[in-house]
Amino acid sequence: MRIRKGNLVEIITGKEAGKRGKVLRVFPKQQRVAVEKLNLIKRHTKPTQQNPQGGIVEREGTVHVTNIMLVCNRCNRRVRVGHKILDTGQKVRICRKCGEEI
Ligand SMILES: [Zn+2]
Repeated sequence: MRIRKGNLVEIITGKEAGKRGKVLRVFPKQQRVAVEKLNLIKRHTKPTQQNPQGGIVEREGTVHVTNIMLVCNRCNRRVRVGHKILDTGQKVRICRKCGEEI
C-alpha cells in the first residue's frame, strides 16, 4: 500500500472529488482506505447497550486507493509520489514536485 494511516489525501473522482481528509484506516487486502469525514454512509442501527437509542449512525465508508491521491504538505496540492532510498537503507516516499518526504 502506498497510502498509510494518518496521511492527508484528496479524493480525485466521484461526488466528493477535491475533498481532503486524513486516512483513518487502511485495508491492504481490499486496497481501500477510510478517510476522515469523507464518503460517509448512514447506517440504521438497532438499539444496543452502547447506543440505547438506536437510529441512524454516520460512519466513514471506504474509498479505493485508485480514487485518492496523497497531498504534499509543502506544495499544498495532490502530487505524484516517488521513492527515495536514504543512506540508512530506509525507503521513503517523496513528492515528485518538491522532493519533500511524505
Ligand atoms: Zn511537494
